[in-house]
Amino acid sequence: MLDGVPVKYVSWSREKNLKGIIKGTGYLCGCKDCKFTKALNAYEFERHAGCKTKHPNNHIYFENGKTIYAVVQELKSSPQEMLFEAIQNVTGSPINQKNFRIWKASYQAATRELQRIYGKDEVIVPS
Ligand SMILES: [Zn+2]
Repeated sequence: MLDGVPVKYVSWSREKNLKGIIKGTGYLCGCKDCKFTKALNAYEFERHAGCKTKHPNNHIYFENGKTIYAVVQELKSSPQEMLFEAIQNVTGSPINQKNFRIWKASYQAATRELQRIYGKDEVIVPS
């Protein structure tokens, strides 16, 4: 659903940053070796940016300057009926409308997508 949304890895010092694009479970890396042809997980993407932390999603930003982590937190606290509007607002990027409709059909699928992007233990699925 978030496929194609541009993101950026920014190190604490802000000296290093690396562009990426969300692709399925990971990120297409924009470093000079990968050239957006390789999908990496958050840790690998961080390593290609020349950094290493325990929480790469705290350093990966959407175009509006929010981190993946902040967005997931925001979505978690959004009421279910507001979730899809919230997603459009928080990512700050136009999203794939066709995928969006499919995604919207299933809140469970939406939650799973967030889990895939953010990591299995971080998003609690409401039962
Ligand atoms: Zn790379």
